[in-house]
Formats: sequence, structure tokens, C-alpha cells
Amino acid sequence: MAGQKRRFGFETRMLHAGHIPDTVTGARAVPIYQTTSYVFEDTDKAAQLFELKQYGNIYTRINNPTVAAFEERIASLENATGAVATASGMAAQLNVMMTLLDPGDEIVTSSHLYGGTTTQFVHTFRKLGLKAHFVDPTHLDNWAAAITPRTRLLYGETIGNPRGSVLDIEPLAQLAHAHNIPLVVDSTFATPYLCRPMDWGADVVVHSATKFIGGHGSSIAGVLLDSGKFDYSRFPTIADPDPAYHDLRFYETFGHYGFLMKARAVTLRDTGGALSPFNAFLLIQGLETLSVRMDRHVQNAQAVAEFLHGHPKVAWVAYAGLADNPYHALAQKYTPKGPGAVFTFGIKAGNPRLAGKEFIESLHLFSHLANVGDARSLVIHPASTTHQQLSDSELEQAGIDGGMIRLSIGLETTEDLLWDLEQALQATSA
Ligand SMILES: *Cc1c(COP(=O)(O)O)cnc(C)c1O
Repeated sequence: MAGQKRRFGFETRMLHAGHIPDTVTGARAVPIYQTTSYVFEDTDKAAQLFELKQYGNIYTRINNPTVAAFEERIASLENATGAVATASGMAAQLNVMMTLLDPGDEIVTSSHLYGGTTTQFVHTFRKLGLKAHFVDPTHLDNWAAAITPRTRLLYGETIGNPRGSVLDIEPLAQLAHAHNIPLVVDSTFATPYLCRPMDWGADVVVHSATKFIGGHGSSIAGVLLDSGKFDYSRFPTIADPDPAYHDLRFYETFGHYGFLMKARAVTLRDTGGALSPFNAFLLIQGLETLSVRMDRHVQNAQAVAEFLHGHPKVAWVAYAGLADNPYHALAQKYTPKGPGAVFTFGIKAGNPRLAGKEFIESLHLFSHLANVGDARSLVIHPASTTHQQLSDSELEQAGIDGGMIRLSIGLETTEDLLWDLEQALQATSA
């Protein structure tokens, strides 16, 4: 076919990667294969599938054609060698950990994380015999100092919570590789359109596809991706015989695809956090407009950040798109199209907790809820919701002040968003 050698652009791959029109029906859109299982051609073929000697569909917990189209499409967009989709972002992260770590192993992670990730790395890790060392990600020395002989990977978020810090991926990947361990990056806030961590040396990328990838606040989903470049030949969990699969050596058998094969054939098989075909279909709809939506999200976020930055009732704005932000230079390097559309700001007030509540209750367009990355604009006040049980001094330790507001900027008319914020700021007591 003419054009077969051509490397298609990002937008073309958003629409076409991972799927050709159905040969039986001619269906142009990716069909929803709503089935649990697949009829085997014969008993020999069935045995080969189970022995991983042939790749094919067995059971939808492990593979499904609609899910596979989503996996291939996002792998193409991230410049990854492949992907495994999961039921949620939390399931994707845990799958990576269970695939790469054994009890007693450790990770070193940025402390600027999604709240659920922090609890997973503290409490669920403890149950699994794993340990996470949390470091302030802004200095490479902190990372180096926390690495021990049991450290099996480094972990961070491209754009981290809660202050929108941008991860310096390139030197971090070099540090990881100097210790023969992979760098795992949660790139949820960036999406493959704004940043591709693997282009900077990251080995594994995870996403909560619940957010901008789905893009419409309709489905919970996650995905993990592998660059195929990390050398797992001496990495115990991928190179050693695996008793969970007849002592199969995943690296020896599948080479650079070994990590992904184990993530699917062992971890997904045994822990079960599989993506449903219907949700995969919705994520595919999201991917097809990703670049168009992200350009618009970023444009609106920049306008809102600049508006708040100049507002007399606003104490601070933490958006790396602003020139005076400490992460502005890193954002220009890693997210040149814009550092996402989720950020925090602080209300100036005698009683910031009260002002935060008044502000949220006065908004008309912004929806008050616990999510980000919807096409609609969203708002939350951490001090009265996710962190309400903390005292003022504990909030300060967590880097959250009582007047901190988190915004996720949607695709509405820019002037309408500024109007809504202005009238809500006017309604808050000084
Ligand atoms: C939401 C989120 C997660 C968790 O994803 P779910 O799909 O909710 O399980 C992980 N990391 C980041 C950065 C997130 O925003």
C-alpha cells in the first residue's frame, strides 16, 4: 500500500492508529466487541494461546479487540512499544508495581503526587511488603540520596499535585539508568499531546485515562505503556523464571516486550483490573479529538491564570504557564504547547477557609466535584473536602493553604469563565 512507510503525524494517528475498517462488515468506527470470550479454532490452537506461543484472544479480562484498538492507538501517540489498558488509573499504577516489584523491594517517588497515589504507595504497599521513599522532586540530589540496593524504580508525575510542579524527566531518567532501574512517569495531566515522557528517557508511562484522554467525565479507565528500550535482561522480576507462568522467563522469551507480556499475562490475569470494551470505545472517541481539545484546554487555562494573577482578591496562582512561576522554564522544555489545564490558586482573605467556601458556592458554571480533565470546567476546595480533616498547621505541611482552590479548566467560552470567576470573587468576604 502506498504510504505504508510514511510516519504519520500525531493527529492522523489519533484517528487511525490501531484500527482498519472491519473486513466483515465494513464498519468505519471501532466496533464494541461486547463479549467475554472467544471460540477457539481447535484444541491445538487453544493450547498454543494458553502457552503464549501464539498471541490471540482468550478472555476479555486479558484481551479484547476494542480494548486492543485503544491500546495500540495510545501506544502510537506516546511513542511506546505497546500498552496494557486497565479499569482505572490506580489499577494501572498498581499493575506496574506488581509486575516489577517483589516483597521487600523499594521505590523512590516524588512527593508531589495525586492523593490516591500517595495512599496506595503508603498503605497498599505496606500490605504487599513494599516501601516507597518520598522525596521533594525539585532537586536531583534528593533522588540520588534515597536510592538503596533494594530500589527497583523511580516514580514521578509529569505535572505534579498540588502545586503544578513540572518533573525534570531527562536527568531523572539518566539517574535511574545509572542504577539499572526504570523511570516510571504518571503523565495524566499532560496527555501524550502535551508531553511524551519516553522521548526524554522515561521507560514506563501510566495514565488515568479517566481525565483528559476520555475527556468527557464519563468513564473511569487507565493504561500503562512501555518504551521497549529499558534493558530488563538482569531485572529479577522480568528476567528470572516466573512460577506464576510455568517458570517462564519473560525477558528471554519476549525480549523488549517482556515487561508488557508479564503485565498482561500474569498481573492483569491475576488481579483482574481489566478495562471494559464499552469504556475502551469511549476512550477511543476521546483520543480522536485529543489535540483539538488540549489546545483549547491550555488556551483557556492560560487566560484564566493570567486573569487571576492580576486580580486584587487573589494571593497567588500556581500555573507553570505564567512567566514568574518557578517551573516555567521546565514547562517550556517539556510541555511547549502549554502545561495542562489543572492548577491551584489562593484567595486573599482574613479567613481563607471561609473565603474558599464562599467562592465555590458562588460559582455558576464551574462544577464543584472531585475530578479533573472534563470538557466542563471543574473546581474543588481541598481544605473543605479532600483535606478537611487536617488542622491549619497540617494543611501548611501538606503545602495547602486554607484558601487554596483547584481548577480544571474546560472548553467553555473564555469570557464566560472569566465572568463566573469574577462574580464569585466579588461574593467572597475580604
Ligand atoms: C485521577 C488520577 C489518578 C487515579 O486515576 P483513576 O482513574 O481515578 O483511578 C492517578 N494519577 C493522577 C495524576 C490522577 O489525576
